[in-house]
Amino acid sequence: MGIFRHELVIVGAGVGGLYALIRARRQGLDAVVLERGSDIGGTWYWNRYPGARCDVESFDYSFSFDEELQQEWVWTEKYAGQPEILAYLHHVAERYGLRDGVRLQTNVQSARWDEDALEWTVGTEDGDEYVAPMLIMATGVLSTPKIPDIPGIDDFRGELYNSANWPAEGVDFAGKRVAVIGTGSTGIQIIPEAAKTAGRVYAMQRTPSYSLPAHNRPLTEADQQRVKGAYPDIRKRARASMLGAFTDTFDRSALEVTAEEREAEYRRIYDYGSPMRFASAFNDLITDDEANRTARDFVDARIAERVGDPEIAARVVPNGYALATRRLCIDTGYYETYRRENVTLVDLREEPLEAITETGIRTAKREIELDMIVLATGFDAVTGTLRRLDIRGAAPSPGEEGLSLREKWDLSPDSWLGIMVHGFPNLFVVTGPGSPSVSANMFLAIEQHVEFISDLIEDSRRRGDARIEPSAEAEAAWVAHVREVSDGTLFKDATSWYTGANVAGKPRAVLQYLGGVGPYDDRLREEERAGYPGLERTPWGSRGPRAEDRGSEDHRNDKHRNEGVHA
Ligand code: FAD
Ligand code: NAP
Repeated sequence: MGIFRHELVIVGAGVGGLYALIRARRQGLDAVVLERGSDIGGTWYWNRYPGARCDVESFDYSFSFDEELQQEWVWTEKYAGQPEILAYLHHVAERYGLRDGVRLQTNVQSARWDEDALEWTVGTEDGDEYVAPMLIMATGVLSTPKIPDIPGIDDFRGELYNSANWPAEGVDFAGKRVAVIGTGSTGIQIIPEAAKTAGRVYAMQRTPSYSLPAHNRPLTEADQQRVKGAYPDIRKRARASMLGAFTDTFDRSALEVTAEEREAEYRRIYDYGSPMRFASAFNDLITDDEANRTARDFVDARIAERVGDPEIAARVVPNGYALATRRLCIDTGYYETYRRENVTLVDLREEPLEAITETGIRTAKREIELDMIVLATGFDAVTGTLRRLDIRGAAPSPGEEGLSLREKWDLSPDSWLGIMVHGFPNLFVVTGPGSPSVSANMFLAIEQHVEFISDLIEDSRRRGDARIEPSAEAEAAWVAHVREVSDGTLFKDATSWYTGANVAGKPRAVLQYLGGVGPYDDRLREEERAGYPGLERTPWGSRGPRAEDRGSEDHRNDKHRNEGVHA
């Protein structure tokens, strides 16, 4: 057990935490990253299941902050697989010498703001404390798996795996009877892979997803040259776009073109294989149900063609929600898998899953004997990871316990710009609720956030701020804007993790800012240019230790003065 003092603590060593460390070091800050996993990589460290790959094209789903990095790295596939993305993040860690700044197997459990010392104390499972005036939570939006509350889940005597905590040594499906519970993006990737060798795969589907063929392929030398020759321009256009990737959106309604033109446009993008491009085919697909219906009709017909058997198709073609208001997936051979003799669709709407037994699964209609169950049941997304920690901000009045982030977000997941939270000074969240996050290319969304946060930290240091906090008014105004935008879309009716609906008791709200990455970027720039009018600032000297005193304390650059030794 020890107490470690730094200028900045960052929690999480995924894309966000690694980039935050790069930026902090460039600013000369003494920063440390705390990561509960045994290695870096975040999402791409934990989700090692067969078939895992990105659904944003590799050329876009990567860092843009360093031209040399993007020129030297060679993506081998249009949609990179998990091993390649993890290798890329390892390359980034080596290239920028990040490893010595990351404490692995360090599970953060609490963070408390000290209003007198004006600093955060971050507590870990091992009893260590990391103290710093600034704290960045880069803990991820899809980093806490949702373990379903299925009766008997602990009784199963076969192999039980969760897709988001997949064994590093891999899993052997050969000849086994395997049930995959869940047909979101993850289940859709695992099912065809398992079917290649398993004796039988039971695809346990409750809500069908919309999925498009990825048309994944190896990238050629010509692809590399085309993209790398124009990378700065591609990245610039991505930043100004709605979804954070180059999408050549047509600025016209799906309803103002003829049926033939519409069909041709859907067909063109469908044959290319990109959910982002498909969702941007017309400018009203997520705001107008009639427009959305045209896209649904097109995709429904393709799904039926791919599945073949009309009875199975009737069950896997989604209904009851608008396309893209739940994640629009991409797949490699998912629907065709139902043509295989060893794959059985179990429609849980017709035969609800009643229990997991010692030997398999019981539905309302039958007992299914199994060797293996794979949970691909999703995540307590966006706010879930932070809600599980005991994060205490400023006390409402002296002597009282600090405000709890969990309690605040249990009422409503409010934030200022998706980055800071009123009541939680000097705390920054990467891709928090109310930011574009998963509605966009996340690499770009993360870069956008980390850059805003590090520029803000730099600005505060220059001005001599000890404490910065968004005002209640600024937060309320942002929350109102986020809601106004989502109310104008079809997302508000979605029942999925996009709105918190997949987790019992979670407040229902669209968790993303749907105004687009480009307009969001403009809003961040506006805030910076205006000197951050949304923030309340407290300079050193007016509260807490005076700046000159503080400088002479052991608070800065004093890794060597840490009390205790880290295990
Ligand atoms: P993460 O990668 O989740 O990293 C957060 C880290 O914080 C984790 O390593 C976690 O262990 C650590 N952590 C959390 N809590 C604690 C704690 N209490 N103490 C210590 N450490 C902690 N997005 C896209 O844009 N395109 C895609 O194609 C795409 N594919 C995805 C595929 C899968 C299977 C999943 C699950 C998500 C995908 N995403 C995709 C979203 C993906 O999460 C982001 O793109 C991105 O990788 C997130 O990076 P991050 O650093 O913000 O969070
Ligand atoms: P998800 O989209 O939330 O899907 C979870 C699935 O599990 C749903 O089909 C859900 O059905 C089902 N489920 C949950 N609890 C259940 C229960 N008790 N009984 C039966 N079924 C249950 O989660 P995910 O597939 O892990 O994807 C989450 C997100 O991660 C994606 O939306 C995407 O952003 C990202 N991701 C991306 C990729 C990629 O292609 N790059 C791959 C994986 C993940 P209901 O909907 O009926 O609850």
